[in-house]
Amino acid sequence: VKAKSTAAYKLEEFRKAASTPLSKLRSISNALCTEMHAGLIKDGGSRLKMLISYVDELPNGHERGVFYALDLGGTNFRVMRVKLAGKAKRVDKSESIEVSIPPEAMLGTSEELFDFIANEVAKFQKTEGPEYGSLPPGQKRELGFTFSFPCNQTAIDGGTLVRWTKGFKVSGTVGKDVVKLLTEALTRKGVDMRVAALVNDTVGTLAGGRYNNNDVMVGLILGTGSNACYVEDIHDIPKWTGGPVESGEMVINMEWGDFYSAHLPITDVDRELDEVSVNPGEQPFEKLISGMYLGEIVRRVLLKLAEEGEIFDGVTEKLRERFVLKTPDISQAHGDQTVDLTAVGRMLKNRFGIEKSTKEERELVVDLIETVVERGARLAGAGIVGVLKKIGRDGSSKRFSSSQKLNARLTAGAPTVVGVDGGLFEHYAFFRNTMQGTIGQLLGDNAKLVSLELTKDGSGIGAALLAATYSKYK
Ligand code: ADP
Ligand code: MG
Repeated sequence: VKAKSTAAYKLEEFRKAASTPLSKLRSISNALCTEMHAGLIKDGGSRLKMLISYVDELPNGHERGVFYALDLGGTNFRVMRVKLAGKAKRVDKSESIEVSIPPEAMLGTSEELFDFIANEVAKFQKTEGPEYGSLPPGQKRELGFTFSFPCNQTAIDGGTLVRWTKGFKVSGTVGKDVVKLLTEALTRKGVDMRVAALVNDTVGTLAGGRYNNNDVMVGLILGTGSNACYVEDIHDIPKWTGGPVESGEMVINMEWGDFYSAHLPITDVDRELDEVSVNPGEQPFEKLISGMYLGEIVRRVLLKLAEEGEIFDGVTEKLRERFVLKTPDISQAHGDQTVDLTAVGRMLKNRFGIEKSTKEERELVVDLIETVVERGARLAGAGIVGVLKKIGRDGSSKRFSSSQKLNARLTAGAPTVVGVDGGLFEHYAFFRNTMQGTIGQLLGDNAKLVSLELTKDGSGIGAALLAATYSKYK
């Protein structure tokens, strides 16, 4: 038998530092739940911003009319138009366009970014056909704006940007009202639309999920970034000063990407990734979980091993290049069923220019991918358990809220559905299954009342639904 290679030992070290035993995950769930409480007490009470979304009413299926949605927040930017036709017919018609955001627009000025967006909306609006019907006199089309960055909302249709995340760094936007910026850009481009709702993509996902299923209580994003929101009892939000709310509920955008706990399994490689990122020190939870980072973490560990002369006969130029390895690459390689791991070999060649690799090296790459992705998925699972604990759904506490509606749900034993959107969850079966399995391990018997459901395109349809819910012309 061959002695274990030095590289394998090094990988073992990384694996230890990145490990997520159940005891650790329990501590993380508890810490998240504690931070949720703290963030609800006062602004700045926790790293978890627990932002008030001003969504106190979710779609119920009766929505009618033509609405636009605009989704900005990740790799692509989308504009959508839907015709909602009430309870029976639901979404009668929908069309959308998708445009990739040029890197310059992600790192330029506010005006450049919003003009780029408004221009796409202008082009798309011109394609609206007669089947959408004409506007009643004096009315404008209304739009739901999904803007997936932390915003301090001041109303359902207004909010200032707290900071950029996920590789965006646009000057002149932080502290500004993004609805105002969008409206001004739309006006410059000759688009006469009213921005009726500013929503985070998590909130859009929750709304889109709720439209089809009354048991959806949590919205989760696992795509380029990661974030969650949930339905909270208004009386459990001490920092709410807005007076009585008819529904008794409020959707809270957790901004869980910025969650931090000393229990998080952060390794040296993660620290290095963070230091050179556009947002050092920020979004530590997101940097362990989301699609933007998983491939990059794998690349960084491989680079270390190659630099130390353990694998690949040294380093290639490409192996040093940040973000050349994408999460879809590792998910494809991970699914390699061939005996010789030819897909892994192809990934090494195509992404890093590594022409030759041994089978052992390729096996090591798969091990590494599994370690990194498993950690992310298990942390996401622990996060969800923390949220369930907060709303009395993890079975450990008999927390009853002052909201009769939420209590009635609990006592009736209604299931709790987490609506999930994002390419990572949708396309990476290993991630999805590992996350689901972890929730099962953490909740035991209580897991049977909880389910994760893919809620595709919540950030589009969900935003349009919220524009309908908060329409000025209702
Ligand atoms: P966004 O989060 O940018 O709004 P998506 O929800 O479509 O957009 O998610 C895109 C992200 O999902 C990509 O950045 C990538 O990290 C991840 N992703 C896409 N396809 C796959 C895949 N096949 N396997 C794993 N991750 C994927
Ligand atoms: Mg998205």
